[in-house]
This record gives sequence, structure tokens and C-alpha cells, in this order.
Amino acid sequence: MSKRDYYEVLGVEKSASAEEIKKAYRKLAFKFHPDRNKNDAEAEQKFKEAAEAYEVLSDQQRRQRYDQFGHAAEGHGAGPGAGGFGGFTDPQDLFSNLFGDMFGEMFGGGRRRGGRRGPAQGDSLRMRLKLELAEAAHGVTKTIEINRRELCGTCRGSRCKPGSSPVTCTTCGGVGEVAQSQGFFSIRTVCPTCRGEGRMIQDPCGACRGAGLEAKRAEIKVDVPPGVDNGHRLRVQGEGEAAIGEGPRGDLYVDIEVEEDERFERHENDLHAALVLSFPEVALGTKAEVETLSGRVELKVPAGTQSGQVFRLGGHGMPRVRGGGRGDLYVTIQVETPKKLNGEQKELLEKLAESLGKKTNSKKKGGFFSKS
Ligand SMILES: [Zn+2]
Ligand SMILES: [Zn+2]
Repeated sequence: MSKRDYYEVLGVEKSASAEEIKKAYRKLAFKFHPDRNKNDAEAEQKFKEAAEAYEVLSDQQRRQRYDQFGHAAEGHGAGPGAGGFGGFTDPQDLFSNLFGDMFGEMFGGGRRRGGRRGPAQGDSLRMRLKLELAEAAHGVTKTIEINRRELCGTCRGSRCKPGSSPVTCTTCGGVGEVAQSQGFFSIRTVCPTCRGEGRMIQDPCGACRGAGLEAKRAEIKVDVPPGVDNGHRLRVQGEGEAAIGEGPRGDLYVDIEVEEDERFERHENDLHAALVLSFPEVALGTKAEVETLSGRVELKVPAGTQSGQVFRLGGHGMPRVRGGGRGDLYVTIQVETPKKLNGEQKELLEKLAESLGKKTNSKKKGGFFSKS
């Protein structure tokens, strides 16, 4: 496939000035920008082609080499993107660097996030959120207060003293990159003066000292889904710090901390609890009330239940944060030995002991020390 001539792509004369080349590229870039030509492969191709042509022809040295050697100067003999030095800037990045400010206004958003040299995103924030176990079980909406940086009220993020505006960077001429030549090749790096923005601030805003941002207190509602656990992190998109320029806001990350509950011990989605019963209750069997995270439920304790025996109450554990369903509640029976007995009770117990007969204190299997 033969490559079109770069001048032909931009529709300019070989003698065109830098300004004419920039103008021609701008016209094409806006016309074929992917945001305006959704799912149009031909437009995308034209957008890329124009960006590539502009990238070469806007650089004095590369243009010179191109004039002399044609496409061979950019190392395209070996296929697309070959050989490191022949690589091109992402057309989207090139576009954003040059026309970043107009972009948002003209297309009404739809900007890319992140990207190598795309508009920088605002900083993300992290915070901890303490929850009670019941809140973690049922889900909760919490209002939290944070300090975060918003656009400066004086300069509205422009970083310039009101009335002044940024000027084109004199080092890179507004491209955001500088070329360092090394013999035949040249390496393009981010401009050290404007750090890739293509513009410089001459009169910084006094209120924010040219930062463009100032700290403000904010109240944010965080929706916590049911079932969260320690170590879970929620991402609240766009609730981080503001970005200067075209970039999107950062995100807010919320680290969940679930407090201990004196009634329940949590193991992943299962809960464990103890149920204290008297000896007659376990010996004769009883209906006991068990506390769960969503009210009391009845547990049938059969006659002859042993101390330490565990009953499972299916579905009374924590909800699974992903996938639905719930864990179980495990209830361990603890038989309470009375500490004080009156005369009558003593007599009854002695009678019972007599009736049960003498028992050895040791057990061979599943003995005292092997807790199950
Ligand atoms: Zn300011
Ligand atoms: Zn610069």
C-alpha cells in the first residue's frame, strides 16, 4: 500500500508556512475527529493520516528530512510503527495537545480519560469508612465530609491572573514536544518548559498562586452495598479532585472497615454466635430464641444436646456482595452451670445424680481437649 504524500494529505503547497500547515491540519482534524464520526472507519483513517502528516511537517527538522528522503525518512519501509524512531504520537494526543481547549466546547465533552498525553485527570482521593456489622449486612448510604481541591474561584482553573491568559509556549511553539536530533534520527520528548501543555502562564493567579485549584470542604453521599467486608474498596467515580484544564475529575476510593460486633463473629459471609442454655433445657430439649442480624428466630434444641454442639441457621449470615445469596449463622450451644443453688435445687440435683449413677470423668474418643 503506497502512502500518500504528506503535503497532499493536508492539501497544502510544498512551500506552505508553519501557520498554513497548522491551519490545514486543524480543519481536517476537526472534520474527521472520531467523536464526530462514530463508527466511520474511513474518517478515522483520515484523522490518523492527517495527524501523522502534521506531526512530521510541523517539525522543522523532520520536514526537512521528509523533503529530502520522502517517507523513508520516517522509517516506514519496515511496516507500521516499526523501529522505535518511526513511531508517531497517538493522533488523539496530538489533537488534544494542540486544540485541547476548544475540544470540550466544540464537542460538548466525550473526552478521553487518562492516556499518555491526554488531558490530565484530577487526583484521586482515598478515605476510610467505619461501619457497624448491621450496616455492612443491610447496606447503607453514608454522608461523608472530605477536603478536596476544586477549581480556584478566582481564576476558575485557568491559573492566570484575571484579565490575562496563557501564551503559547516559546520553547515548543505550542506543540508540547521538542525534538532532539541524534544524527539521522530525532527523538521527541515532552517539552520541559510547558510540560506538554503547549502554553505558559505569565501572570499567575494570586488566589491559588497559579495552581488553578483550592481546597474546599465537600459532603459526599456514599452508597455502600450489602455484604461489604474489611478490605473492600468502593470507587465513587468523579468525586475526587478537580482537574485543571480538560481532564476529568479524579475518583474517590473508600476503604471499608467493619467494626467488631459483640454478638457475632464473622468468617467471610458466615456468622458465628453463642447460645447459653441451662442443663435442663439441653437435657429435655427446648425452643430457644436466637438473635440474628434481622431479628429473632426460633431454634429447636433437641433433647440431649451437648455443650459445644453447633446448629446451622441457613441464610442468616451476611449477604454476598457479589452474586447474591447469603451465608449462614452458626450457633454454638453453651451449657451454663448454676453458680448458686438453694436447698431445694441442691436436693433435686443430688437425686438426679443418684439416678444417673456414677460416671468416669475421662472419655476415650472426642475427649475434652479436642474441641470440634
Ligand atoms: Zn486561581
Ligand atoms: Zn512547551
